[in-house]
This record gives sequence, C-alpha cells and structure tokens, in this order.
Amino acid sequence: MQVLQNAPLAPLTTLRLGGPARRLVTATTDDEVVAAVREADAAGEPLLLLGGGSNLVIGDAGFDGTALRIATRGFDLDGTRLELAAGEVWADAVARTVGAGLAGVEFLAGIPGSAGATPVQNVGAYGQEVAETITEVVAYDRRAGETVVLTNAECAFSYRHSRFKADPHRYVVLRVRFALEDAAGQSSPVKYAEVARTLGVVAGERVDLATAADTVLALRAGKGMVLDPEDHDTWSAGSFFTNPVLSAEQYAAFAARLEGLTAPAFPAPDGCTKTSAAWLIDKAGFTKGYGTGPATLSTKHTLALTNRGSATTEDLLALAREVRDGVRAAFGVELVNEPVMVGVAL
Ligand SMILES: Cc1cc2nc3c(=O)[nH]c(=O)nc-3n(C[C@H](O)[C@H](O)[C@H](O)COP(=O)(O)OP(=O)(O)OC[C@H]3O[C@@H](n4cnc5c(N)ncnc54)[C@H](O)[C@@H]3O)c2cc1C
Repeated sequence: MQVLQNAPLAPLTTLRLGGPARRLVTATTDDEVVAAVREADAAGEPLLLLGGGSNLVIGDAGFDGTALRIATRGFDLDGTRLELAAGEVWADAVARTVGAGLAGVEFLAGIPGSAGATPVQNVGAYGQEVAETITEVVAYDRRAGETVVLTNAECAFSYRHSRFKADPHRYVVLRVRFALEDAAGQSSPVKYAEVARTLGVVAGERVDLATAADTVLALRAGKGMVLDPEDHDTWSAGSFFTNPVLSAEQYAAFAARLEGLTAPAFPAPDGCTKTSAAWLIDKAGFTKGYGTGPATLSTKHTLALTNRGSATTEDLLALAREVRDGVRAAFGVELVNEPVMVGVAL
C-alpha cells in the first residue's frame, strides 16, 4: 500500500483538474482496500474513492481527507462467467471479452475508467448498459463493516443510477461479476439506430462481435469519447449532463416551447420521455467548440465540457452553469450533471 501526503489529484482525472488530496493511498489488493477504508472510517477521516478519475470533477481546493486509489487487478473468466477486480481497466476488460468471443459488453468498448465504477452509474452506451449483464457485486459495506454480495436486483440499477450512487458513502465495490453470452462469435442484438445504420443492419440483428466493438470505437473516437492525451476534446468527464427524463406533464410543457423544432424523444419507464441533452445544448445556441476561455465545449460533441490545457475547475463550472442556465431559459428543462462533484456544486 502506497501512501503519499499532499498529492496532486488532477493527473489522476481525465479532466486533469482539481487540487491535491491531503493523503493519497493506492491499494492493490482487496485486503488493502478494506484496510484503508476501515482505517479512514475509524478515524472519522473523509474518504474519496478513486478509480480512473473519468467521472469526477474535483474542486480547485482539492480534497481534505484520504483519496483511496483502487488499483486491484483480476480478470477471471470461467465459461461465460466473468469476475473483474474493481481496479481493472474497463476498456481493456471489454477488449478481452470480445477476444474471447463473448457478447454482452461489446457496445461498451472504449468507455474509460475502472470496472469497479461501472455499477456505480450503471455505465451505458449505444443501447447497452452493465445492468444487463452484472449478476453480482462484491462490496465492502462501510455501515455494516463487512464484505457483502449484492445481487443484480439489490443494486437497484436504472438509467445512469444505482444503489451505489444513491448511497455514495456506504459501499466500496471490490469485484463485479458478469454473465456474458456465447453467441458463436456474434454480438448481442444491435439496439442503437446509429450503430445499426453504420453497420448496414436493422435493429435487432446480430453482427460479428469484433466488428460491433470496432464500430463503436470508431463512432466514439469521432465524438472525442475515446481517451487520447494529445486531443483536448477528450480532456473531459465524458457526457457532462444526463439526458433529461421528463414526466408527461413536463414533456407537454417542453413540446409547447419547441416552435417547429422536433426534439429527440425516447420512451422511458413510468410514462416518461427521455430527450437528448446534446440536442438541447446545441439548439440553445451552445454549438460544438463553444467558449473562448480555457474550458470549452468539445469541438466534436456538445455534451462534453473540456479542459483546453490551462483550465481550473472553476472555469469548467462557469461554462457548465452557462450551458445549464441557457438550456433552462430556452426550453424550461433543467440539465443535471452526470459526473460526481467533489467539494464543488453546479
Ligand atoms: C471520454 C469519456 C467518455 C465517457 N463515456 C461514457 C459512456 O459512454 N457511458 C458512461 O456511462 N460513462 C462514460 N464516461 C464516464 C466514465 O467513464 C464512467 O462513469 C466510468 O465508469 C467512471 O469510472 P472511473 O473508474 O473513472 O470512476 P471515477 O471517476 O474514479 O469515480 C466515479 C465515481 O465512482 C466512485 N467509485 C470509483 N470506484 C469505486 C469503487 N470501486 N467502489 C465504489 N465507488 C467507486 C467514485 O468515488 C466516484 O464517485 C465517459 C468518460 C470520459 C472521460
């Protein structure tokens, strides 16, 4: 277990923003993770769990407590059953499942970050989300002081949400278990229209597994959604806002303000409608590359707020507030941030 004092956190985030942690602990085994959490909890020390730092906005003042970097490793495949240690790099794990000829997470190729963070916001893209394949999550329950196994139902997954996100200081994910599918080298059925169009198939068809993953990687790269240290469009936290899910009443009020525009609309649970945050941002006047300061919208995607190299967290938040307020003024819809804020708020 490595322990550093007054350690910079910015290099550990994909935005490369935020001040130092008073203490930074790097744990490489489950026992070290649990020991570090127990020690911090016993001392009443604030604790920040850190995976790949790809969904974090850390304040310029940093974190006055212990940041625990989870760097455990483990990729255990038994037939179609996969168990990943929390610190495994998610994108690498996906590539290995595709290489092994197994379907289930191929459309999640290229998503940055750690395996242990995937259940936290029920990571999803291109019509697939981890809730579809996770069977169990092994976690340290800080309230009970013991390691527990949560079933898929107990994880309470929904769109970019879960029990772990709802109760952020309770669970430390140690291992994630998946049930993948052996579809004889074929992918899961294609669900997302853009992917189907690119592949020249209709939704519901299966395609070659590696082709599916490669297609998603190419689509993601075109939107700056695959990490590239040379490309500032990827110095982001991915999508900065979640897609708004509107009740029937909210949707009617929204539709009344569209003045001839046709907004994307997808059915969501409980009679709600999901619309597109990227579309709202664009139509509110914040087009690709918007901004003149050190933080701007990505030149490839309106939904990514980026650090052009010399930004501070306050610069990024000022841009985020401008976009959120502009969308509210134009459409009456409140955008909600997807990344986790540490020591700051929108
Ligand atoms: C370019 C880019 C593209 C992206 N595209 C997508 C996308 O397509 N779909 C999508 O869903 N997300 C996307 N994201 C967001 C991000 O990659 C995911 O949310 C990812 O799962 C975060 O993993 P991480 O390890 O980096 O988490 P971190 O940023 O380190 O942490 C995120 C949150 O999870 C908590 N956490 C981390 N590890 C654990 C653990 N072991 N146990 C409990 N809590 C933990 C942290 O405390 C924090 O609250 C993208 C991000 C970037 C930068």
